[in-house]
Amino acid sequence: MRIISLKTDLDQVISEYRKSGKRIGFVPTMGALHQGHVSLVEASRKQADVTVCSIFVNPTQFNDKNDLLRYPRTPEQDILMLEQAGCDVLFMPPVEEVYPVPDTRVFDFGYLDKILDGAARPGHFNGVGQVVSILFSMVKPDVAFFGQKDYQQVMIIRELVRQLNLPVEIVPCPILREPDGLAMSSRNTLLSAEERKVAAHVPEFMQKAAQIYHEQDIDQARSYIQEAVSSQALMRLDYYMICDRNTLREIEHKNQPAISLIAVFVGKIRLIDNLFLD
Ligand code: AMP
Repeated sequence: MRIISLKTDLDQVISEYRKSGKRIGFVPTMGALHQGHVSLVEASRKQADVTVCSIFVNPTQFNDKNDLLRYPRTPEQDILMLEQAGCDVLFMPPVEEVYPVPDTRVFDFGYLDKILDGAARPGHFNGVGQVVSILFSMVKPDVAFFGQKDYQQVMIIRELVRQLNLPVEIVPCPILREPDGLAMSSRNTLLSAEERKVAAHVPEFMQKAAQIYHEQDIDQARSYIQEAVSSQALMRLDYYMICDRNTLREIEHKNQPAISLIAVFVGKIRLIDNLFLD
């Protein structure tokens, strides 16, 4: 695996690949890698000739300074995991390589940016749009892989690609979970042992709410989540919504394809998860 930190070095490698007609797969990450990230690399290896992974903790997508400061960083371990996963190129740029000057672009993602994490984390998706468009311009991928754990993010990226008319295919990949059901996340490592136990209730409550939704309706599912979360001293609900999977608008009829999405604080750590309601 080639490890690259400078844009000029990346340019050289990418232009060699392009000259030889290789299909380039790209997996952007913020590091502190887990099996969820590895599954994206594996998906890329199946669908592309070469896989480029980036590790970059993007300052512009953090609306909370402390969240940025305490974001986990485990570069040595990440390198080993990516080598084992068969990644070809790891791009780990310093901030100045990605933002030689401040990025002042403001995207208009319309409704998509005004709900759920867009409402809870102002500016977050604008920062995601900035970094992903910059990384796409550097890596020039044919195909890029994103986890459905960040379901709204996948929709934002698709909108970004549409607005900027970028020649890249976006492939959403399934959520990988720990044995107790908790969605894998770099932020899980920040939980104390007690918080980690409590966090396992998130997928459990989501499943139960899905059952209530099927047997009763949205309101009962929502009330159940509110009560279940508030019964846990260490948990605080940020949002729970049942939306149309294609639009992220709150569903009106049960025959719409539905997804439930949740954001919960466990202690100081904010976790997100989602579940298709089939
Ligand atoms: P992050 O490093 O958290 O920015 O995530 C990088 C990519 O990995 C994003 O496309 C995430 O959606 C994806 N990802 C994060 N957690 C998981 C998971 N548990 N399962 C699958 N993909 C994930």
